[in-house]
Amino acid sequence: MSESGEFCPNCGDPIEVDRSTRAYPGAATRRERKLCDSCYFDRFDLVDAPERIEVRVCAQCGAVHRGNRWVDVGARDYTDVAIEEVSDALGVHVDADDVSWQVDPEQVDQNTIRMHSYFSGVVRGTVVEEDVTVPVKISRQTCTRCGRIAGDYYASTVQVRAVGRTPTAEETERAREIATEIVEEMEATGDRDAFVTDVSETEDGLDLKVSTTNIGKKIASKLIEEFGGDFSDSETLVTEDEDGNEVYRVTYAVRLPPFTPGDVIDPRDEGGPVLVRSVRSNLKGRRLTTGEPFELRFDDDDAPEPRKLGRVEDAEETTLVATEDEHAVQVLDPETYRTKTVARPDYLDVDADSVPVLKSRAGLHVLPDESRESG
Ligand SMILES: [Zn+2]
Ligand SMILES: [Zn+2]
Repeated sequence: MSESGEFCPNCGDPIEVDRSTRAYPGAATRRERKLCDSCYFDRFDLVDAPERIEVRVCAQCGAVHRGNRWVDVGARDYTDVAIEEVSDALGVHVDADDVSWQVDPEQVDQNTIRMHSYFSGVVRGTVVEEDVTVPVKISRQTCTRCGRIAGDYYASTVQVRAVGRTPTAEETERAREIATEIVEEMEATGDRDAFVTDVSETEDGLDLKVSTTNIGKKIASKLIEEFGGDFSDSETLVTEDEDGNEVYRVTYAVRLPPFTPGDVIDPRDEGGPVLVRSVRSNLKGRRLTTGEPFELRFDDDDAPEPRKLGRVEDAEETTLVATEDEHAVQVLDPETYRTKTVARPDYLDVDADSVPVLKSRAGLHVLPDESRESG
């Protein structure tokens, strides 16, 4: 012990400082040291605790209100949430080292938890302990998202349609899946504004109402990426919000291509029917007369409008009777059971006993064998 030459400003006692502490040049340390230990501990509070804490939770989805927004915490039990809120709200004195704390929640009723907390720490070389009890009130409300869902809120509609036909079950099913996937991806990044408000079948397709225009646009883009076609958007003024800003809803009108893979079409170019394999950017397929690849640009306005003849699912298995030459074979017409000479595409296996054929207004044509599985 040595005299520091300083005196406690509170009680006037000389302050004892050991050399190791005195050698430490921190200004804060010097200022704290102005009080003697006795006066310092008289005024010392290890823990700074609020009188009570209110935790706002959403009664529908369990989200917790933090700061100025709702957060999904994935809690099954609000006790854990209450403990976390209390630990955030309690402050431990900066001078304390080796702080440890325990908490003992006491469920008073459904909406009240008394949080008994025990703290200990080391201050000025002395172990200090303190108990605090903070009542936590769980306040059940409705979060912004659940309120919007309950109010059928939506900011955008995706209309899934197809040119000259209604979308297939596969296309509308996939549209629903895409909507769910996009919302889930956005939720995974913490976006609480993403949801699907409504999905409804219409006479000519499917309507998806979603919570943001961004989601609507993503669904439309993904659909045409997978199925081809295009989309356009249009805005409708619906209302003004509380700040006087105009609120628009955006409709994304998706037009899927007129044909889907598995369609048999007549491109009306004298080359014979085509089995469609892909419609994503261009229409791609195979001639049923020769087996040669076929391609048609959708934006080719000079090309005649192709005509649909049937689907691979409509094909029937029939007997391959004989090979005539390199361009023709004989098969049994599945309707009349008469032998008929038809074109011999390069995919036809002349050793086969039977082949799939499609009878359409363009005549009788042999389909590729694998189309039965893929169709
Ligand atoms: Zn003093
Ligand atoms: Zn909610």
